[in-house]
Amino acid sequence: MPERVEDGAGYPTARTVEDFAHNLAVVSARIESALRRAGREGEAVQLLPVSKTVPEDRIRLAAAAGCTVFGENKVQEAKRKWHNLSDLDVQWSVIGHLQTNKAKDVAEFAAEFQALDNARAAEALDRRLQALGRQLDVYVQVNTSGEQSKYGLPPDAVIDFLKTLPSYSALRVRGLMTIALLSSDIERVRPCFRLLRRLRDQAREADLIGDGGLSMGMSGDYEAAIEEGATCVRVGQAIFGARALPDSHYWPTPTAEEPPRPQ
Ligand SMILES: *Cc1c(COP(=O)(O)O)cnc(C)c1O
Repeated sequence: MPERVEDGAGYPTARTVEDFAHNLAVVSARIESALRRAGREGEAVQLLPVSKTVPEDRIRLAAAAGCTVFGENKVQEAKRKWHNLSDLDVQWSVIGHLQTNKAKDVAEFAAEFQALDNARAAEALDRRLQALGRQLDVYVQVNTSGEQSKYGLPPDAVIDFLKTLPSYSALRVRGLMTIALLSSDIERVRPCFRLLRRLRDQAREADLIGDGGLSMGMSGDYEAAIEEGATCVRVGQAIFGARALPDSHYWPTPTAEEPPRPQ
């Protein structure tokens, strides 16, 4: 087996199908252990491999190792990969903020959109989907950390927002999504997961969300997220290897033209 290269944050870069198979097996085993610890044995958790910034040749290796869906943060990049990898039997989940002028693209190629957080995006997506005769699975993104730089609805706006979604018949609401506080102290991260779960439970009681999945947990915190009830974990670096760019590159501070909050 070729030598594994250690990069920045301690996640080695996967460069062969065997590397990917190894990383996927490690993550899956950790998911299973976390489920056992939480008394959730036998429950299914979706592992969404996040391939943002990863070149297409390495995504092919991940697909060969068994990945069937990939999460991408930026619409443009996702669309390019969807197009160039159309010979693969894989699906694309958009997990980053949507500018309404990109709704047409998402409606065209995405199997899922996990970052719905405002009425304009819902409206634009629904219109484009209707025109194509398609439906789209969506998660509503919640800002559970209170950090200004994160997109997502404020927690106290979630229930009212969910109430508006049945009028967009092309959107199938699957659950809630969050990016928790980025901290190495997991006990400061857990309250974000717990908050998302409480909101999901409220939405369930109000019959607004069906079963209501919880998409929460990334490379650094997915085991804790599962302990707190995650049904989907979005894992990039632990599968593909460390990214060179800081996370602020992917979650830029919202600008005046694209405010993070619904109007
Ligand atoms: C990048 C990203 C992830 C994955 O983060 P890793 O640290 O690579 O596991 C998960 N969710 C979102 C929204 C992301 O942008």
